[in-house]
Amino acid sequence: MTIILGLESSCDETAAAIVRSDRTVLSHALAGQEDHHRAFGGVVPEIAARAHSELMMPLVETALADAGMTLDDVDAIAATAGPGLIGGVMVGLVTAKALAMAAGKPLIAVNHLEGHALSPRLVDADLDFPYLLLLVSGGHCQLLRVNGVGYYDRLATTIDDAVGEAFDKTAKILGLGFPGGPAVERAAQNGDAKNVPLPRPLKGADEPHFSFAGLKSAVVRAHDTGQYRIEDIAASFQQAVVECLADRLTYTLDRIDPPGALVVAGGVAANMQIRGMLESLAEKRGMRFVAPPLWLCTDNGAMIAWAGAERFAAGHTDGLDFVARPRWPLDPDAAPARGAGVKA
Ligand code: AMP
Ligand code: MG
Repeated sequence: MTIILGLESSCDETAAAIVRSDRTVLSHALAGQEDHHRAFGGVVPEIAARAHSELMMPLVETALADAGMTLDDVDAIAATAGPGLIGGVMVGLVTAKALAMAAGKPLIAVNHLEGHALSPRLVDADLDFPYLLLLVSGGHCQLLRVNGVGYYDRLATTIDDAVGEAFDKTAKILGLGFPGGPAVERAAQNGDAKNVPLPRPLKGADEPHFSFAGLKSAVVRAHDTGQYRIEDIAASFQQAVVECLADRLTYTLDRIDPPGALVVAGGVAANMQIRGMLESLAEKRGMRFVAPPLWLCTDNGAMIAWAGAERFAAGHTDGLDFVARPRWPLDPDAAPARGAGVKA
């Protein structure tokens, strides 16, 4: 059995966790930075990087103390090495390098997206490769076939905004605050999804990809008319997102030999209406539906430690010269989507 310390700092969560290869989370410490960024209505990269550098070492100490361990008890040190806001990624990676060097332990450079992609396996020992993964976060919206550790086929991606980004921008337009996803979901509970006519971008299109930018612009226009309740716009927006995701997923499922499980990961996986849609879609297709618990959906250290454990078991460690990567696709061979270069 191996014990991995994992560090996460790619966006606005600073986190450190200790995970054992038998799927036991020995500790996980996390600090959000909402208060640092709220005034700006979004994550400010420079502020995030500075906050990570203040928070990371105390969180590592907390994670070790909570697990009743010292660095000597850890077998390897994993850290998000990209993709993400590069200042923050560098803080976590350099911290991991320093700890690895001081303790004489191997370093594992983890792709943050692989952290999300493998996180369901931390809580579900029966989730075998391959599985279909909908990765929906603040920076990404991708449909992937997860074939194994390090082996991904990207089947679809967004040609413009990520889903979480659309939620965050909608929240900002509607004055619902930050972070946006949970705020929109809360407001939507008191709204009528039929009251505001909004488009379903790419619905029915003969291509697998996603698009959300037009939906966001339509939210701006609907809000500007002054004739709709905020709650109704939120509910109508969320309904449009759910229908777009369902339509795009159905397009791909109709054209592949679907693996046994449909898995959702990333911060937007916290959304109950999206989960519900995915669950019924999976059921209709005879697929198992797997969604990690909410704490594991948003950015955290345990998913990085777990991805580290999976990589370590597969024999992958990295040199101390590993350079942080602002962009790091899971499937570098994927054909570029229309409008590629933006969020591919
Ligand atoms: P991540 O990028 O994985 O850290 O996830 C953060 C993103 O998930 C942000 O864009 C949030 O707005 C979004 N998010 C979090 N909770 C929800 C929710 N309940 N509904 C929709 N989006 C959410
Ligand atoms: Mg993330």
